[in-house]
Amino acid sequence: MDRRQTIPKELRYTRNQFDREFPTDDACLEQVKEQRFPGGVAVCHKCEAPRKHYRVRGRTAYACDRCGNHIFPLAGTIFEKSSTSLRIWFQAMYLMGSTRCGISAKQIQRETGVTYKTAWRMFKQIRSLMSENVRLGGSESGAGGVEVDEAYFGGRRKSASGRMLRGDINKTAVIGLVERKGCVAARVTRDVKAETVLPIIKECILPESTVFTDEFPIYNSVPRMDGMGYEHRRINHDQKIYVMGDVHTNTIEGFWSLVKRGIGGVYHAVSTKYLQSYLDEYSFRYNRRDSGNLIFPAMLARVSELASSRPSQ
Ligand SMILES: [Zn+2]
Repeated sequence: MDRRQTIPKELRYTRNQFDREFPTDDACLEQVKEQRFPGGVAVCHKCEAPRKHYRVRGRTAYACDRCGNHIFPLAGTIFEKSSTSLRIWFQAMYLMGSTRCGISAKQIQRETGVTYKTAWRMFKQIRSLMSENVRLGGSESGAGGVEVDEAYFGGRRKSASGRMLRGDINKTAVIGLVERKGCVAARVTRDVKAETVLPIIKECILPESTVFTDEFPIYNSVPRMDGMGYEHRRINHDQKIYVMGDVHTNTIEGFWSLVKRGIGGVYHAVSTKYLQSYLDEYSFRYNRRDSGNLIFPAMLARVSELASSRPSQ
């Protein structure tokens, strides 16, 4: 089944649409400028007032209509120091945003014609756009509760979840937190001790939420965490009681298998160093799984959200 056919019209963003909207580097620059300084209006540091700015021909700059001082919309963004054409950056972002299960730097190289080294560098930068701090639980999408579970990545063990065994020191531990019908957060951690995991829970899950975990002792103090008021419900995996009413961790396990499949199929192997950014990429897509292929526009929006504030050089 081609799942793309099921995306409602308003949530589609096709390659043709992309080509029409962004035919040239100038069109891409204009987009970044509009996101950061709508209508070209920005505070001019010389005039010390908001002024309208006009494009400076042949440069990635816009000039103040009164004093001519330049602003640079790309300053502080992932594009700033790159010699790669802006349109190729946009193309790579489009490709990364329109896949469901990930894309390799090799594919970006093939589709855009840049060198592998450049593709890899762009890939890393684009992925940095996909790191976000979500807070889970609470009364809206998280009302069904939040599941928390650990997983281990790397090495040769068969199963994604389960406890780290003695001799598993080459594995990387990850804590996942997911709303039953909402968003996910996944963090690489140095270990799975309570003093490491509990602060992550506190940071990611809103007070008064229901938290589902298994019987692992690190979760013992979840119901007694300061000021959090969590309701804690547990499932006993060892006794093979996987689903007991709504007490289960199937949602987070589903997310783990998605990531594992992607890493196995697309990236082949992921070193610990890059694991967090892969998790960010998967989470970003997972958290927008109902937005059809509007993920590219969401990534574009992140470019300006993450840009450092000072526009001038
Ligand atoms: Zn000025």
